[in-house]
Amino acid sequence: MIVPRTESVTEVIRKVQDMPELIRRHVTDDQICVLTFDRPDSAANIFDKATLVDLNNHINFILCNSSLKGVVITSAKKSIFVAGADLTQLSKAKTPDELRDMIELGQSVFNRLAMINIPSVAAIHGACVGGGYEVCLACDYRIASPDKVTKIGLPETQLGIVPAWGGSTRLPRLIGLPKALDIILGGKTLAAKPALKCGMIDDIAPREYLVEKACQLILKRGAKLRVRPTKFMHRLAKVGPVLNFIAKKVQKQVLQKTRGHYPAITKALEVVTQGLTKSIDASLVLERDAILELGSTEACRNLIRIFFLQERAKKLSGVAADVAAESKVGPVKRITVVGAGIMGGGIAQWASSRDISVILRDINHDAIAKGLSGIAKIYDAGVKRHALTRVEARAGMDRISPSAVDVPLHSADVIVEAAVEKMDLKKKLFARLDELAGPNTILASNTSALSISEIATATKHPERVIGIHFFNPVHRMQLVEVVVGRQTAPEVVRRAVKFVQQIGKLPVVVRDAPGFLVNRILMPYLIEAGHLFENGARVEDVDECMLEFGMPMGPLRLIDEVGVDVSNHVAADLASKFSDRMHCPDVLSKMLADQLLGKKSGKGFYVHTKKGREPVVNPRIDKYHSGTSCAKLTRDELQTRMVLLMINESARCLEGGIVDEAADVDFGMIMGTGFAPFLGGPLRFADNVGLPQVVAEMKRLADEEPRFTPCSLLQTLAGTGQTFYKS
Ligand code: NAD
Repeated sequence: MIVPRTESVTEVIRKVQDMPELIRRHVTDDQICVLTFDRPDSAANIFDKATLVDLNNHINFILCNSSLKGVVITSAKKSIFVAGADLTQLSKAKTPDELRDMIELGQSVFNRLAMINIPSVAAIHGACVGGGYEVCLACDYRIASPDKVTKIGLPETQLGIVPAWGGSTRLPRLIGLPKALDIILGGKTLAAKPALKCGMIDDIAPREYLVEKACQLILKRGAKLRVRPTKFMHRLAKVGPVLNFIAKKVQKQVLQKTRGHYPAITKALEVVTQGLTKSIDASLVLERDAILELGSTEACRNLIRIFFLQERAKKLSGVAADVAAESKVGPVKRITVVGAGIMGGGIAQWASSRDISVILRDINHDAIAKGLSGIAKIYDAGVKRHALTRVEARAGMDRISPSAVDVPLHSADVIVEAAVEKMDLKKKLFARLDELAGPNTILASNTSALSISEIATATKHPERVIGIHFFNPVHRMQLVEVVVGRQTAPEVVRRAVKFVQQIGKLPVVVRDAPGFLVNRILMPYLIEAGHLFENGARVEDVDECMLEFGMPMGPLRLIDEVGVDVSNHVAADLASKFSDRMHCPDVLSKMLADQLLGKKSGKGFYVHTKKGREPVVNPRIDKYHSGTSCAKLTRDELQTRMVLLMINESARCLEGGIVDEAADVDFGMIMGTGFAPFLGGPLRFADNVGLPQVVAEMKRLADEEPRFTPCSLLQTLAGTGQTFYKS
């Protein structure tokens, strides 16, 4: 195909002069054109319309200069190559035509890059995802730095869309169908080493030499870089029966996993497999049509909203604008973690991996040795996943100083207490930590449920006491609740939020109240699951209906995972505080008496056998049914009950000022419990169902079971035709 030379040199130069410089151009003495993405006043590069036009203009320049020997594409940013398409522009497209224009612009610019007749090399350092990787796919060769920040992939399906700037078309041609499906359908991003192994990149080089190496390759191998013989297996995958076999097999797996809730994954499978049998241009049309179809779905809108909520959490200040403006918070350099158990160990590992020095305190050497061994396991797993190198893991371990005795903690910026969940113990600890700490040290507790304000009474500085509530397992869960006690100073809130952001977690600021936000909403749901089971519903039905709804795990299985003992303790505690509507089901204490603790004891609602094998329902569990009133409920009815209670408690959290906005509730539930992300969270889901319908259903159930009585906020909104969200 002939590359269109649409514009004259003068036109190109005029356009470039009129525009902000988003991509810098430099031609080396060896006549290699280096294009450096460097968006002004921003730490990130993204592909918006202006950047695509800018790249197009540079391509015009390249086409008009026959003396050029090659092109290198790179970035000047510290940790980002190009972070993908500008989702704000994509999501704000008012008409399908606007979205179509944006997709076609990207496709045509990347196509022109793919077709220039000199070799092109992408020199990648930092996040290279979505459109950022699609531009690299349009190059002839890809080299990446091995650094931790380098992440390469196509995460579009996680946003409810498909790669549509050539990713769904070019990746299977580059690495073969099965591997491409794995990346695209899974919305995966890989570190440089695994990306090299699967062929997504061609080489690895230190960041400092990336561009130099790219230039050398062009000079040495010239046109040979452009020729890439198609592997036999890649050709084989295009043969009709083989293609159909792979597609059918993958489709079955996808449906099993997603239960049809994520249309983008099914669509991506269709686009990639069908596109492979067509020309590049025809395959690009499939990509474009797919995104036009998906862009209007509720699932896509909700998934993109979550992306924006995550971005919002990264920038949150957590306090009023004037406090935030005055605050001069330096980065946290040293923390102390008290308690080296599951949570303390996890927090110490995570912080140390983020360049923070940690004193890890526990009561004796055995407890510390156990904690350190757990931390080493997390680091080892990270090395295996290529999330970090062995040297980085070693350095992380070295940043942890264990201590079995009291040491001065003056230099700690933050102390995170993660000892056992007992108020007396925590109060004693805080009184002592207050004495050992410096005048600016934040005194934080990782408690799941105890009152931060009460813990603070044990200190002389209650204004410095706050909750920093991590979720288990710390290295996987991004959400952290920052719990503001009655006397916590705004500046301490601000510093705690900054600390959470500094270590790459996502904060949600919540008021100190029983269960805070996430456990407060999760527990009535788990309690209801126990109640339904107790009254005759089958374990399979209770769990399956919630999987159908879109939860990552059924509630009874979740109780097993958390531990029947812990669930019973938290449920009983919360039930004692909200006795009007929560009653801890007896089944949990009966199971406890019989040593059925869930996963940790091998038996609970399920029998947990070997690691990696799916647990099966405990064949003896039926003896814990104590009634039959719920035995005949359909899966739909079971699901309705559990979901309504989550919606009601979510509304109560908003009503009681636990958080400020509906978006905080939804964000907390999606990030903290995996609440069906494509539904947008419990309150967004309630809006979409229709609040009058939600309230009517609750009232119907409340006639016999008062715990279903809708809270006043729900009733008021439904009665006045309002919703939780304004748009
Ligand atoms: P754990 O039992 O695994 O660890 C507790 C550790 O604290 C033990 O190593 C123990 O030796 C140590 N400890 C006890 N008294 C101490 C003292 N006076 N000084 C120093 N260390 C002491 O408990 P965990 O599951 O890690 O929970 C810790 C805290 O985190 C609790 O408040 C819990 O509610 C909260 N939390 C737990 C989870 C979870 O899923 N496990 C999740 C979020 C929050």
